[in-house]
Amino acid sequence: MPATILLVEDEPAIQELIAANLARAGHHVVRASDAESAQRIVREALPDLVLLDWMLPGASGIEFARRLRAEERTRDIPIIMLTARGEEQDKVTGLEIGADDYVTKPFSPRELVARIKAVLRRRAPQVTEDAVELGGLRLDPATHRVTAADKALALGPTEFRLLHFLMTHPERVHSRAQLLDQVWGDHVFVEERTVDVHIRRLRCALEPSRHDGLIQTVRGSGYRFSVHAQQSAVAP
Ligand code: CA
Repeated sequence: MPATILLVEDEPAIQELIAANLARAGHHVVRASDAESAQRIVREALPDLVLLDWMLPGASGIEFARRLRAEERTRDIPIIMLTARGEEQDKVTGLEIGADDYVTKPFSPRELVARIKAVLRRRAPQVTEDAVELGGLRLDPATHRVTAADKALALGPTEFRLLHFLMTHPERVHSRAQLLDQVWGDHVFVEERTVDVHIRRLRCALEPSRHDGLIQTVRGSGYRFSVHAQQSAVAP
């Protein structure tokens, strides 16, 4: 279950230790030592999860978490707070601002990796290896296969990731910018038209089994994976 994890930790030794353990668990780690540089990183590409130290120089981890939760673009990023504090009130504050979990230092690297896995499974199913079945399609990240009625469909790697995200977030409209963030990991340097190109390819790949109708265009808004037939008002 490889994910891109933004690690925000100001103590070099701890940062190094955590980064090494996350890399060993197969994750891609991006590091920051304070909230300001973490903010810059997030502005360019959304991580799958933020591992956030509470006590940072400048803005605190709590302040940074609040900022992430306040913006629509970053609201849904899973956050795990790291802290040396073990007091109940701190834990409550951490969970109140919307952190998904809370780990008190010192912690075992194995425990941290397990917590990350649990949070990703709950909050970011598109980065897990769990198979998804919906609307007659089955997508298996472990084998990289998409099947319809046991027949394999041929999808390119980007179309596969796009379908994986859409199937794990069905019945919701995603703007092109959101899809760029979630599937390409970049909304700054990739043009929005790129999304349309890959949506077209995805529909072509789903056409042989007549599942292309699951990928719906919502005019003026974006795209949606839906098992319900599209209303004529928003077609074609
Ligand atoms: Ca610290």
